[in-house]
Amino acid sequence: MIPGLEPVPLRELQALGSVRDWEFEGHLEDLETLTPVRGRLLAEHRGNVLEVRGLAKTIVTLCCDRCLNQFNRALSTSTNELIWLGDREASEAMAEEGLDASALEGLVECLDPRGDFEPERWVFEQLSLQLPAVNFCGDACPGIPQSLKKEASSSELPAVDPRWEALLTLRSAVDEL
Ligand SMILES: [Zn+2]
Repeated sequence: MIPGLEPVPLRELQALGSVRDWEFEGHLEDLETLTPVRGRLLAEHRGNVLEVRGLAKTIVTLCCDRCLNQFNRALSTSTNELIWLGDREASEAMAEEGLDASALEGLVECLDPRGDFEPERWVFEQLSLQLPAVNFCGDACPGIPQSLKKEASSSELPAVDPRWEALLTLRSAVDEL
């Protein structure tokens, strides 16, 4: 939990009538990071939409998919997002606001206007989007570890199905007990 980023009722933001500003530093519950997440978040209630602008950065430790070594990767996000307050289907109301629902690719998020805005969740989601789909430690990657290479070449023989191999390993581990 990042101190200060507690959920805030949208009605409270509306009553505020101005921009709510958070500066924060701390660790997210659902994203393990090497350094605290630092950033700033601004939210403004504009009737039917909540405009959220945020900057956040941190460093995560990832495991390379190739060499299996751990490596650090900086994650940062700079996002400007409009969150629709109300029913996703309320395109008529959106049109009244001068917002064209079909043109609003970015406006996929929507919140119940009687509910809360969760700044910490927002930061978590934005940073999660920045996580690489493939973890690769970089050009200096030493490649597939030798031990795995050996396993790979021996499995070319018509040997045990790898799924069974795991069981066999387990069985021999149990036998050793
Ligand atoms: Zn690597």
